[in-house]
Amino acid sequence: MSQIYLDNAATTSVRSEVVEEMIKILTNDFGNPSSTYSIGRHTKALIESARKNIAKQFNVTASEIIFTSCGTEGNNWIIRSSVRDLGVKRIITTRMEHHCTLYSIKEMEKEYGTKIDYLNILPNSEIDYNQLEELLKEEQPTLISLMHVNNEVGTVLDLKRVAALAQQYHALFHSDTVQSVGKIEIPLDEIPVDFIVASAHKFHGPKGAGFVFIRKKNVLKPLIVGGEQEKGMRAGTEAPHQVVGMAKALELSYQDLNKDREKITELRDYCKSKLQETFEGIQFNGNGSTFYNVLNVRLPFSPEKAAMMLFQLDMKGIAVSRGSACQSGSQKPSHVLAEFLDENEIKKPSLRLSFGHENTKEEIDYLIDVLKGI
Ligand code: PLP
Repeated sequence: MSQIYLDNAATTSVRSEVVEEMIKILTNDFGNPSSTYSIGRHTKALIESARKNIAKQFNVTASEIIFTSCGTEGNNWIIRSSVRDLGVKRIITTRMEHHCTLYSIKEMEKEYGTKIDYLNILPNSEIDYNQLEELLKEEQPTLISLMHVNNEVGTVLDLKRVAALAQQYHALFHSDTVQSVGKIEIPLDEIPVDFIVASAHKFHGPKGAGFVFIRKKNVLKPLIVGGEQEKGMRAGTEAPHQVVGMAKALELSYQDLNKDREKITELRDYCKSKLQETFEGIQFNGNGSTFYNVLNVRLPFSPEKAAMMLFQLDMKGIAVSRGSACQSGSQKPSHVLAEFLDENEIKKPSLRLSFGHENTKEEIDYLIDVLKGI
């Protein structure tokens, strides 16, 4: 077998229709969107049409979508501006967030003395919703920053429940939706979240493109200044091919969502049962009802076997991520698994398998065979 890609939470292949759209623009539409003559106006129109297309997928208005370079930028911007410009004095979050969120929050603590409350993570990898409500009862200007789908284990946050709590206690709510946009419906007209963040390369679009949704009532100030692009909210010449490619990728993801979700769920379930049949004592990290494209497995391997596992998988053409850092020789365990696994369990080798619509059962059979041979 040639390369088997089971790391779709890290990034995804770019759909051929997206590549076609991008090449068309790179070839024909080089005008600067800020120029006032016709070729400039044309690329500007392409960008605005992409913005409308993206907004439509979430039932929001186009003016609430701002383009960025990636998910990291979006999360940094929202967190920093909420503190700097919206008067946030406290952030409620978890230690399981992506590093771009965690480190942004730590910066706010250092620079502005923002109070940080970290929620407890239950053994099933979920947050403690009761603790969240208790904390919110201490009314102070608060930003809740909680990711929708965890990138390592796939734990899913109940967005509606948190958004309702945020409204009830007058807190702002930011959700890093990088792992869920394009993979599940997010009707923002029904879910009163204030900010979400997306990244095109996670839904079969190009790298280097993302967007944030900022609900109209929240007026953020820019992270990057010095230009009028994106209504002055995000200076820098736009990349029309990236933006149009991203909108196309999102449109196709939502168009094929039911079919792809069904296929991926079936593959994930197949993989899970094959692993259970093959490896006695195998365990799955998370709550058993994690997002449909992720399977984070804890393998009953000795430390010697574990040390070589990723290397051997790579030699056999299989791309997966480690679920914890132990087997790579580093002593530092995953900051996500460390939140809900005890000391002994976290020492065992974990693998993150993440599936996409291009994967097949044959690939999973091959993975199991290779794992058996380790
Ligand atoms: N947030 C989550 C949950 C992610 O999984 C990632 C990427 O791995 C990011 C943020 C960062 O996104 P980007 O790669 O676009 O900077």
